[in-house]
Amino acid sequence: MDQTAAPARPRKQRPPPKAAYVDVIEQVTPGLIRISCSGPELAAFTPPKPGAHIKLLFPPPGVVWPPADSSVETPRPPSRTYTPRRFDAARNRLEIEFVRHGAGLASSWAETARVGDRVLIGGPGGGYAVPEDLRHIVIIADESAMPAAGMVLEALPAGSEVQAICEIADAAEERPLSPNVACSPLWLHRGPSVAAPGALIEAAVRAMPTPPADAYWWVACEAASMRRVRDILTTHHGIERTRLHTRGYWKFGDSNYPDHDYGAE
Ligand SMILES: Cc1cc2nc3c(=O)[nH]c(=O)nc-3n(C[C@H](O)[C@H](O)[C@H](O)COP(=O)(O)OP(=O)(O)OC[C@H]3O[C@@H](n4cnc5c(N)ncnc54)[C@H](O)[C@@H]3O)c2cc1C
Repeated sequence: MDQTAAPARPRKQRPPPKAAYVDVIEQVTPGLIRISCSGPELAAFTPPKPGAHIKLLFPPPGVVWPPADSSVETPRPPSRTYTPRRFDAARNRLEIEFVRHGAGLASSWAETARVGDRVLIGGPGGGYAVPEDLRHIVIIADESAMPAAGMVLEALPAGSEVQAICEIADAAEERPLSPNVACSPLWLHRGPSVAAPGALIEAAVRAMPTPPADAYWWVACEAASMRRVRDILTTHHGIERTRLHTRGYWKFGDSNYPDHDYGAE
């Protein structure tokens, strides 16, 4: 036997997704749709950590998922990663906020969703562990990460000093990160094109005169931009890596970007 070979890892067994049904659809801003769904299977949904993610599964038309006969190998339907923005355990109700970014399985589904539609939800998983000594945080997000940024904001210790920077298309996309916690982000208006996503965030971070040395940083946006922001923070501003939580939420030109890009390899 090859003693150097890594032992085979057991295949990850995912719990089956929970089915829920759309009950409210809100056009929050021109570019954002909030969809609430509920159903008894959400009783098994664990309250999510701030910035956690879920998987929304999209079985092709005519495909029943999970399959009735589990002994038959059936490919898992395509899925996309979203934020469980608000979970009401008393009502088994989950809110999800969708950026209308154009053609995309999930974005297009949200644009055409109707009350009563079935939603298949995996997770939640992951999330941000708020450091115990956090007194000051800089939150940086584009539209796709604003739902998670709102969750992080709501999980901070009382009295935390918060700076938020949000890159959005235009003033019509400005909205509170949280209905409960006051926060006045620096809004960066990108304009209608997303050809250079995150460019305004990068410029704003580079231009910070003296970034607070005691701050933690929570950064989530387009993947390539997230890497550049990370680089500006560590090399230009000399911020310790241990103070950074950075995450790519989507990648320009890529479909179904993975849910675990921390940009830190
Ligand atoms: C942990 C985590 C949490 C997330 N939470 C949310 C959330 O709460 N709300 C949310 O809207 N998104 C969220 N996202 C981002 C979301 O997973 C991606 O935007 C995903 O690509 C959307 O799937 P889709 O089927 O609509 O598009 P895809 O089929 O994946 O992509 C189609 C095309 O659209 C482009 N694209 C994808 N997203 C965007 C965007 N935001 N802006 C411009 N172009 C885009 C892609 O580059 C690709 O060219 C999250 C991602 C992660 C990793």
